[in-house]
Amino acid sequence: MEFLPDDIADYIEAHTSQESDLLKKINRETHAKVMMPRMLSGQLQGRYLSMISHLLKPKNILEIGTYTGYSAICLAEGLAEDGKLTTLDINEELETWVRDYFQQAGLSEKIDYRIGNALTIIPTIDQQFDLVFIDADKENYSKYYDLVFDKVKVGGVILADNVLWSGKITKPKPDKDTRALLEFNAKVTNDTRVENVLLPLRDGIMMIRKKN
Ligand code: SAH
Ligand code: CA
Repeated sequence: MEFLPDDIADYIEAHTSQESDLLKKINRETHAKVMMPRMLSGQLQGRYLSMISHLLKPKNILEIGTYTGYSAICLAEGLAEDGKLTTLDINEELETWVRDYFQQAGLSEKIDYRIGNALTIIPTIDQQFDLVFIDADKENYSKYYDLVFDKVKVGGVILADNVLWSGKITKPKPDKDTRALLEFNAKVTNDTRVENVLLPLRDGIMMIRKKN
């Protein structure tokens, strides 16, 4: 996942705002106790998500792929005063733990955390979103995009994570997930309803704005 030389990556992290103590703890505990801790956003990406959220001051955020709650807390930092974040994850094993983190963050009231398959939950959500973060199974990115599109306000933003897939995106013989991401990146780029920038931040973030 690291595209940059270590010294440059270290310099970037040192010159980006630091995480809160709670986020540091979630980062640490995820690495100590949970499978695939590399999925956690981490300081640089987390601060970027928080920055975007602060700029948009969203009333409603949708996150697909909660994992241990790190990115949800970062995104929630910029919510409008009466704003809400809905976050979805299929993995029930982390639920108690994640709810406890949301509690510690003082966000239990602002975060609607739902366990289940995002593909079946999203169509049941009757809400408009200012900001959507797609970060669940890569295979379904195009489906998530189609499912959320009409629920995104005009001028709203969709962020999709890991779109460079550790660099596999440009290598020959793509596997299933890589093929799905190639398809997603092409679909977004060819979609005349949006403007998009593929940011080379961490594992690649596709930033998409729904045009007026
Ligand atoms: N956003 C988190 C990391 C998410 S990791 C962060 O940045 O810290 C991806 C998550 O997607 C995993 O927790 C996994 O359980 C979840 N996931 C995978 N398939 C899913 C599905 N179909 N519906 C909902 N969640 C899913
Ligand atoms: Ca991710």
